[in-house]
Amino acid sequence: MVPPAQETAGWYGPFGGRFVSETLIPALDELTVATKEISSTDAFKAELRALLADYVGRPTPLTEASRLAREIDPAKKTIHRLFLKREDLCHTGAHKINNALGQVLLASKMGKTRIIAETGAGQHGVATATACALFGLPCEVYMGAEDVKRQAPNVGRMRLLGAKVIPVESGSRTLKDAMNEALRDWVTNVATTHYCIGSAAGPHPYPELVARFQSVIGDEARAQILERTGRLPDAAIACIGGGSNAIGLFRGFVSAASVKLFGVEAAGHGIETGMHAATLTAGRVGVLHGSKSYVLCDDGGQIQEAHSISAGLDYPGVGPEHAWLKTSGRARYLSATDDEALAAAALVTRTEGILPALETSHPFAKIGAIATEVARSIGRPATIVLCLSGRGDKDLETFLGRLLSPVAEGSK
Ligand SMILES: *Cc1c(COP(=O)(O)O)cnc(C)c1O
Repeated sequence: MVPPAQETAGWYGPFGGRFVSETLIPALDELTVATKEISSTDAFKAELRALLADYVGRPTPLTEASRLAREIDPAKKTIHRLFLKREDLCHTGAHKINNALGQVLLASKMGKTRIIAETGAGQHGVATATACALFGLPCEVYMGAEDVKRQAPNVGRMRLLGAKVIPVESGSRTLKDAMNEALRDWVTNVATTHYCIGSAAGPHPYPELVARFQSVIGDEARAQILERTGRLPDAAIACIGGGSNAIGLFRGFVSAASVKLFGVEAAGHGIETGMHAATLTAGRVGVLHGSKSYVLCDDGGQIQEAHSISAGLDYPGVGPEHAWLKTSGRARYLSATDDEALAAAALVTRTEGILPALETSHPFAKIGAIATEVARSIGRPATIVLCLSGRGDKDLETFLGRLLSPVAEGSK
């Protein structure tokens, strides 16, 4: 197996870079310097660690899921060991706060007085608005006008937190249009403004910056699993939207070749229908949001809409480090359909008493297949760590509509 490239000025193998207008280069340079001179210092790390402990509730637990482990075994015997890294127990209910707090703390140290962000479903917008409320910084969130309509509760939440939500009317009026608009704002207001990107994507240095803020997931999980089992796991699994919770988990294990890494994308209605968000599975190499990676685009290179039942995976790109982990063979990427994710959510809730986010339900849908495959390759039962990226309360309406209807019950 080829080890992944360490950051070489923002490149992960042939992926990453900075595909932005020249006017943004000084801002990206300033942020790159700040990444080295501020966020890498012991003082910054200590301040962020204290915030993560006292405000977010870290370290999050590592929960062994033994009833689920029995359910996923075809013979219904407990042979594998599953451990869940509980990002659902973070303040605001998901891992996104780790990154938002890190970036807003960094921006405040850089002397920035205004934060902007883009958001699709609103989850990153809520995390950023939360961090801004905590720091007393003004926050403006760009959101496609379609998404503003579809995601009314998160819009309300952001406004309650003091943020201004700016509906974007251009293009398809969704996430990619909001990203373009946020970049445009940043170009104009770069002296005072920090652009808080929500996943391990975007132009250099964002993928690295976000990966470092999320690597607290993998660092904690590694220490916790060593303490609990005395050794590293056989596999680590996470869902892939832009790829930030996955890269955060993977960073704890990527240097150990014995730990197999699996990312699970959203196959929506099915890859063959074209209605999916499985960028690494079915996309092609292209440029989106300022970096080179895999994207969903048509033959003319136009970015296509992504489709997934889970709003957080509904993104037509993916962070460049995942593109490299895929092409180098270090990680494998699978996909799960909407229906598979829903069934997995029902199973996890009933067997473990944990209602996972729809995003997280995707890796749960594949954990049985992955455990079987890993066990076969190592010749003994598998120990697996899964990143439980968020809680499912936000998806309750979908669960109620799809899981408690007579149709779903009968077809169980
Ligand atoms: C946003 C979100 C994701 C997807 O984002 P990544 O950057 O791929 O981690 C996954 N799970 C939850 C709960 C989310 O809110």
